[in-house]
Amino acid sequence: MSHTPSEAERKMQFLFALRSRGVTDKHVLEAMERIDRGRFVQGLFSERAYDDTPLPIACGQTISQPSIVGLMTQALQLTPRDKVLEVGTGSGYQAAILALLARRVYTVDRFRRLTRTAEALFQDLGLTNVTTFTADGSHGLPEHAPFDKIIVTAAAEDPPGPLLAQLRIGGIMVLPVGQSDAVQSLIRVHRTEEGLRYDELRDVRFVPLLEGLGKE
Ligand code: SAH
Repeated sequence: MSHTPSEAERKMQFLFALRSRGVTDKHVLEAMERIDRGRFVQGLFSERAYDDTPLPIACGQTISQPSIVGLMTQALQLTPRDKVLEVGTGSGYQAAILALLARRVYTVDRFRRLTRTAEALFQDLGLTNVTTFTADGSHGLPEHAPFDKIIVTAAAEDPPGPLLAQLRIGGIMVLPVGQSDAVQSLIRVHRTEEGLRYDELRDVRFVPLLEGLGKE
């Protein structure tokens, strides 16, 4: 016999899927329990908001898979003092989670339509420490640099130079790299006094990091 899961059951399943895919950081799990992904997925796909799958959003973009959001957030090793830059606001879901774990979040997308929608959601959720920008985020936000942490949620062939330059010494950047039509690698870059240290975390698939502003 099938039955419609209650909200509590759905939440438990959601958290269970995150844990079983390697999201183990207690603070990250708590933040993901608090931010309702259903708010960031609209229309047709909202029924699948609690599945561990990427889903389409406006402007031909996607909201990332929750377990990847969790793994990337965890890899950033956030502290409540961190100032974070996110490139690729998309739905705003990742930024909302960052907002609960960091002091200040700057998020940028090349589509105004996406940043408008996300900004309205941040307001609605009372997330007052997120600032949203419409710009080509591959140049970073020089006027707000340096950042303690940087997360890029679209894939470039290589880590963009301006972003590396805007990372504070001791800072961490997490991003997918590789050709957009192939499997990409999620990497973590530590910027130390001695230079840059790279780790490869896993294979992923993201939409490409594109130049310039979007048309919508
Ligand atoms: N973090 C998002 C998922 C983002 S999908 C979420 O939680 O929903 C990737 C996003 O990166 C898309 O919205 C796309 O428009 C954006 N993007 C791609 N290239 C960009 C660039 N150069 N600057 C800013 N945003 C970019």
